[in-house]
Amino acid sequence: MYKNLKILTRRHSKLSGLKLNHSLFLLILFIFVNIFCPSKPISAFTGQVKNILVLTSYEQNEYWETNVLKGLYESLKDENIEPIYKVEYLAISNEDKKYTDAQGELLTLKYKNTKFDLVIVIDDEALTFFSTHGKNIFGEVPVVYGGINSAGKLFRFPYNTYTGVVEHYNINSLIDLMLRAHSNVEQINVILNNSAFSSTVESDIKSSLAYWSTNVKFNFIKDDYLENISSKLKELPSPQVHLLVGNFKTKDNFLIPYGDVITTIKNCSDCSDCSIYSTNGGYFDSNIIGGYVLSGTEHGKILGKLALRVLKGEAPKSIHPVHDTGGMFVFNYYELVKSKISQNILPQNSVIKNQPTFNSNIFYTTMIVLGILIVICIIIIIYQTNEKVRSITRINYEKKRYEEVIKYDKMKTEFLANISHELRTPLNVMLSGLQLLEMHKTKGDITFKDPSLVEKAFYVKQNGYRLLRLINNLIDVTKIDSGFFHLQLETRNIIEVVEGITLSIAEYMDQRGINLVFDTNEEELYMPVDSDKIERIMLNLLSNAAKFTPESGTILVNMDCSKYSVKISVKDNGIGIPKGMQKEIFNRFTQVDSSLHKNKQGSGIGLSLVKSLVELHKGSIYVVSTEGKGSTFTFELPVTMPQDSEVATTSLDIENPNYNEKIVLEFSDLNESM
Ligand code: ADP
Repeated sequence: MYKNLKILTRRHSKLSGLKLNHSLFLLILFIFVNIFCPSKPISAFTGQVKNILVLTSYEQNEYWETNVLKGLYESLKDENIEPIYKVEYLAISNEDKKYTDAQGELLTLKYKNTKFDLVIVIDDEALTFFSTHGKNIFGEVPVVYGGINSAGKLFRFPYNTYTGVVEHYNINSLIDLMLRAHSNVEQINVILNNSAFSSTVESDIKSSLAYWSTNVKFNFIKDDYLENISSKLKELPSPQVHLLVGNFKTKDNFLIPYGDVITTIKNCSDCSDCSIYSTNGGYFDSNIIGGYVLSGTEHGKILGKLALRVLKGEAPKSIHPVHDTGGMFVFNYYELVKSKISQNILPQNSVIKNQPTFNSNIFYTTMIVLGILIVICIIIIIYQTNEKVRSITRINYEKKRYEEVIKYDKMKTEFLANISHELRTPLNVMLSGLQLLEMHKTKGDITFKDPSLVEKAFYVKQNGYRLLRLINNLIDVTKIDSGFFHLQLETRNIIEVVEGITLSIAEYMDQRGINLVFDTNEEELYMPVDSDKIERIMLNLLSNAAKFTPESGTILVNMDCSKYSVKISVKDNGIGIPKGMQKEIFNRFTQVDSSLHKNKQGSGIGLSLVKSLVELHKGSIYVVSTEGKGSTFTFELPVTMPQDSEVATTSLDIENPNYNEKIVLEFSDLNESM
């Protein structure tokens, strides 16, 4: 302090050398700082000092005592009092009289010159010690006691100097719960130390036993040393239920941590699944089911409030002792679940430690929902993958089938083409033979004795032609299907072509008594066409019209030419086609199934060939028909500009003298077969 002063003096001497205005500035600064930043007082306390001695029979760090002291310090706070504590851990729980007396002598020496304003004793043993040695050591001094179980003892003390808190522990409610929770158990081990609290618990249980209607056997195992306790436990049968009262030491008098006591007990006689209850909150952080406890801190607070009243001048005799009944049941959630103890049997207002909170519930719920979602996703993925694999397999199968069908269809087409060719060759030979026969008969080279043979020969030729026509149609259809059918386009006057074909059958129609009319709105329309195919189309439509038109009926061939298309229609006033069949008849092998149509010859292949030939010319075909009134088949071809300006010079087939044979062939269905 003086040194500081010296320094200040030196600094001051240095400052003295400064100019006056500097000193003035510093003075103003000093006043400013003092006004706006006043310095704090050196000491915060101005109360009356009170010397307090706390006596405990335990050693330091015991759970109950530590909490009592905590509560005491917290509540013994007052602005008028400055408590100065001295705490004496007497360690006299083993009731060794020689040792206790020695402690008394030691404290006499220690505190012979000390005057205490208050002595606080915080357990039974300490109070007993004080009742023997207190007056000698401390003289007349007010006493506030706490943690007292053997309340009867208190009557020995003069009321004028004593007051305090009685520990009102209700062991019976805990035993009651244990019996309900373990109705099948045969024995309960009550593990005690030699403290006054343990003795109170023991005598309370024993005195209540007579009233409980239970066959459960209570084993009281009492010892301060855990080693002795565990060897006694090992002799007992398992499974076991324990009630742990008090704390325990090693043989060399060291307090054993609470967790270690539980581990040791669980390791005894294979009782790792045993159920442990306790009266001591120190064990509640270990894996025990729980128990009934008084809160040391709350007990300490009650104690502190009484002490404060005494320190403030109230006489102890005028302060009635308090009975601390504020115990509570505390349980460990996981141990309850492990021991399958329902929360329903627990007393009301029990505290359940480690109970999953709302947040952890949300967490678990979220985890479960997430888990379910993941499982659903996995199932969907597996399902989709399976579906994909299945559909790929299906597609592959369909593809394979399709390829097989195509292959089979190709084989069929090839077979049909081959067989048709094979059929046509011998048929042509047969027909040539017949033609030769006919020629010789016409010349008169041969005569038939039986004139009916001539008729029979005609039928043979007639049916030969029908067969040949069918084969020709089959060959063409097969060629179209396999893409080998090509148009031989030549620029021709389409009107001349159609008119020529129509006229070529005029005589034939005349013989059947059918009127044939040709009409056109134009005389000339040059466009690229395959005249042979147009001839096939026309002869097919005309032979159908002739087939279904009665004698004296009329067939009208009409051409309607425009800039873009030419419409060629073959109209008859025959039997007509039912509405439902008008589209179907263009399909291969389709014939109208009605009595009027039935007696007509045919294979149902003609119109499908006609349709294909029209489509090869990029045209379209349709029919308009009314049953009983007649049908009009119209095919429409687009008018395309000639590729080359040269017009075909080859003459039409109809000008050929043998053309009549062709008509006979195309119209072979019309004649009655034998
Ligand atoms: P088909 O070789 O048997 O004549 P088409 O394919 O040429 O076979 O004709 C199919 C069917 O359409 C015929 O069997 C007939 O029932 C019906 N049909 C075709 N043209 C006419 C028509 N002008 N009048 C009535 N029915 C017809």
